[in-house]
Amino acid sequence: MQAAPGDSFVISSPAPLIGALVGAGWRVIGPQEVDGTIAYEELRTADDLPRGRTDDQEAGHYRLTEGRPEAWFDYVVGPQSWKKWLYPSRRKLWSATKTADGFEIDDRAEDYPKTAFFGVRPCEIAAIERQDAVFDNGSFTDTDYARRRAATLIVAVQCARSAATCFCASMNTGPHAEEGFDLALTELDPDGDHRFLLQIGSAQGAALADGLPLRDATGDDHATARLAAAHAAAQQTRRLPADIAPRLKGKEDHPGWQAVAEKCLHCANCTLACPTCFCSDVEDTNDLTGDHTERWRVWDSCFSLDFSYIHGGAVRQDPAARYRQWLTHKLSSWHDQFGSSGCVGCGRCIAWCPVGIDITEEAAVIARDDG
Ligand code: SF4
Ligand code: SF4
Repeated sequence: MQAAPGDSFVISSPAPLIGALVGAGWRVIGPQEVDGTIAYEELRTADDLPRGRTDDQEAGHYRLTEGRPEAWFDYVVGPQSWKKWLYPSRRKLWSATKTADGFEIDDRAEDYPKTAFFGVRPCEIAAIERQDAVFDNGSFTDTDYARRRAATLIVAVQCARSAATCFCASMNTGPHAEEGFDLALTELDPDGDHRFLLQIGSAQGAALADGLPLRDATGDDHATARLAAAHAAAQQTRRLPADIAPRLKGKEDHPGWQAVAEKCLHCANCTLACPTCFCSDVEDTNDLTGDHTERWRVWDSCFSLDFSYIHGGAVRQDPAARYRQWLTHKLSSWHDQFGSSGCVGCGRCIAWCPVGIDITEEAAVIARDDG
């Protein structure tokens, strides 16, 4: 069957697609159950997927539980995001080793074979696009990020259910994506006529689809996919208002910042789990002999006191100022910098905050006109 971008087909399961990717030499990264969560690790076959599992998420709460036994994708996002692979938490920038006549510098890039991200959710496509705008935007290019991104194929999975923490519908980043993928799967009717709608998003995706056991998609297949997306959107009770960015401006002295700071532990979980947060630090380490030194880039967070350290001390000493920096950058000044929100509504910062601080609730308090 000859496929082209924009076409849709039906496939009976994700297994032939994963098999075709592995057979074509792609490293396939996708969801797996690791330590009771959904993590993105290398898949060898479709059997590695956490089939039959679902998630229960709330503020400060995440559990993987038994779901519908036949369903392949009945969970949504876990604590990890794809930035683990495109923008690793620790990356060696270079090392230097003493030689007889100086130092030998090693700045070879870490190996990144051509890689298929399998199971990218719509909000995660949006998050990758947010990081694209940071790391490869025409005036600045992080060469390591750009190299990884160029070697990455995206196989999306459209959401048919939402967790209680999801609010992508109000951010226009989900639960259904129309672009930003090479291929996209929608799981249809896992309890009945179980099948997947396969959308072709690029020429590379079309080439991979050729040779798969497909049939043409019918009007009923498309209608079932639309219902699944509408069901996922209707499940969402959290939201951010569309005009949140201007409503957060000029609220530097709102008492809500102190109120949230009294709960916040400054643990930085929210920034580490967030798929768009991108701040980093650089660390130098030397061995005891002085013969070898290394420079590493590591994720950092605006919640750490040292993050705003300049000569003489940290600019944001007050925990309230650190929370304010995070929330207003994410939801307001990100628009000024990059032309979009820095939040895609994935809900990770809500589920993985140990004290259950909810960005949608805090933003609503601060944005109120009586502040
Ligand atoms: S701020 Fe929270 S909800 Fe928004 S993208 Fe980051 S982790 Fe997801
Ligand atoms: S908001 Fe929650 S996750 Fe973020 S630093 Fe504070 S306690 Fe940690």
